[in-house]
Amino acid sequence: MSRNYFISGGTLDDGSKKDLYISEGKIVGYQNPANSGAQVIDASQKIILPGLVDLHTHLREPGKEDSETVLSASRAGAKGGFTAVSAMPNTSPVADTAGVVEQVLRLGVEAGICDVFPIGAVTRNLDGTELSEIGAMADSAARVRVFSDDGHCVSDPAVMRKALEYVKKFDGVIAQHAQDPDLTVNAQMNEGVVSSVLGLKGWPAVAEEAIIARDVLLVDHVQSRLHVCHVTTAGGVEIIRWAKARGINVTAEVTPHHLLLTDELATSYDPVYKVNPPLRTEKDVHALREALAEGIIDIVATDHAPHPAESKECEWQEAAFGMLGLETALSIIALTMVETKLLDWQGVAERFSRTPARIGRYPHQGGQFKVGEMANLTLFDPRASWRVDRDLVASRSRNTPFHGMELPGVISETFFKGVPTLLNSALVPQLHVEDKS
Ligand SMILES: [Zn+2]
Repeated sequence: MSRNYFISGGTLDDGSKKDLYISEGKIVGYQNPANSGAQVIDASQKIILPGLVDLHTHLREPGKEDSETVLSASRAGAKGGFTAVSAMPNTSPVADTAGVVEQVLRLGVEAGICDVFPIGAVTRNLDGTELSEIGAMADSAARVRVFSDDGHCVSDPAVMRKALEYVKKFDGVIAQHAQDPDLTVNAQMNEGVVSSVLGLKGWPAVAEEAIIARDVLLVDHVQSRLHVCHVTTAGGVEIIRWAKARGINVTAEVTPHHLLLTDELATSYDPVYKVNPPLRTEKDVHALREALAEGIIDIVATDHAPHPAESKECEWQEAAFGMLGLETALSIIALTMVETKLLDWQGVAERFSRTPARIGRYPHQGGQFKVGEMANLTLFDPRASWRVDRDLVASRSRNTPFHGMELPGVISETFFKGVPTLLNSALVPQLHVEDKS
């Protein structure tokens, strides 16, 4: 597909105005050359961000295609402004071998809507005891650099140490789901006032914080790279602040839902609010927003976790953990971080594109709009708003906690490798069908 596009009148994330001429997948200049035949895209009301990069996505394929597929998640990603997502390995089979990560990579290339970077499991079958084929996954066609047992914590400190040491060979990173399993047996929600009122088993903040504290000490000891997935507590923020002040090589993420929602929502008993790690308190939400603004928490990641209706439309205790995130992420960040003046758009671009691309060592993502770069970018109107409708999502699942909410920021186009994925119905056919319904 060798079409030319001229994006006219847009405002880049740093506030400057720049026209972009895109040809053969790349940004080749800032003017529309005579006789270019370029399709002109009016971006005069739009902000242009480098394409969003999600470091934490559950695509569910292989094995759980009733929840999501690589194709449907890629569509949801494009609709949400993403040009790259990262496939968490808790699939069936688990992505703990070169064969499975290469399969996921291939599915992503076939979908062709955004980059799909497979994340490899740290331990075999996520069982926490024996390291997976980390080296083979790193050397495979998928060139895996991020490893995680997400959904499970690598709780054995000796195993965690070995994994951190192993990934140093190829500049990899261990992304930890920080949750002490012994402190969270049968936990259902945040441990606090609300959990005692509801009589649901609580999930104490210390279960997360104790692992973060241990891991920053471990990574300092072996001089490797640690990434803390979905930080949810004010105390966790303080430990990461302490580690960074000491020069420890740690990065951290926060999800959009933990920047907005609190454990009070559990009083509805609606399992759409059941998520791992759990929604915390107002005080935590405040601390997380401040930490993201300050850069103590480096990035936003969605933890997009699709589940079929039968896993969510049931009793709280039986329901699966997780929420959709891809299609609403940028709007939730606009609401919680930009409208509150905690971040400007450049701050959003750093935390939701450039820094996650750097952490994952993802090529051709998180760009600076320079001539010669791959054209991976997102156009959106910050003044427009939309209403979330779970029946109109591109995802195969409908478990969004934001259903019915009016949110700021409407994405008008996502360019992946120079191709407008939303405009191009051959790439994202369902979006157009669904938009009409
Ligand atoms: Zn997780």
